[in-house]
Amino acid sequence: MMIDWKKIDTVLLDMDGTLLDLNFDNHFWKEFVPLKYAQQKDLSLDAAKQALEPQFKSMEGTLEWYCLDYWSEVLQLDIAGLKAEISGLIAVLPHVTEFLEKLQQSSQRVLLVTNAHRDSLGLKMGKTCLQPFFDGIISSHDLGFPKENTDFWPLLQQQQTFDKNTTLLIDDSLAVLNSAKQFGIAHLISVSKPDSRQPKKTVIDYRAIEDFRELMIGL
Ligand SMILES: [Mg+2]
Repeated sequence: MMIDWKKIDTVLLDMDGTLLDLNFDNHFWKEFVPLKYAQQKDLSLDAAKQALEPQFKSMEGTLEWYCLDYWSEVLQLDIAGLKAEISGLIAVLPHVTEFLEKLQQSSQRVLLVTNAHRDSLGLKMGKTCLQPFFDGIISSHDLGFPKENTDFWPLLQQQQTFDKNTTLLIDDSLAVLNSAKQFGIAHLISVSKPDSRQPKKTVIDYRAIEDFRELMIGL
């Protein structure tokens, strides 16, 4: 049994790469945005990718990285509109719905805790219909720090009141798991296949699930 569910009363779930296939975001930022940028600036696709890569890299782990308004302004593209254009690619990862159904019948409080911007969150909830499974949905934009920042967690705790010792966080980002660990969240689980089109990742520092069936034992 990977988790002793009797010891858990709050479950914090990440969205992209944990519940939803990261293929959408990867495709969006690595292919679709460069394509639109290339068209707008009259560049080749390769030149556009090369121009964008350092810009993306320099913003990793910041709140702006997740902010659609920020990128719309910097790139002069309608990022929210472009996301909507390829929203057909938004997909729930295998066995997530079963897991959420089971969790709903159980006693734990379930919170979606995401770095996604409200526009992106709205688009994804609208596409996947997962919203009813959560007791609360928190976007880190409302708290002013991304989850990678250790200042995020005390603010979340103040707002949502949970006990670190009986809280489980499932997140595909190691940087997020590290900051949650530093804050003291006792139960941490990673995801080894956040993108259905990419090979399984090797995760060393945390226990990792390939899909949610592994967590349904004992729930
Ligand atoms: Mg994620």
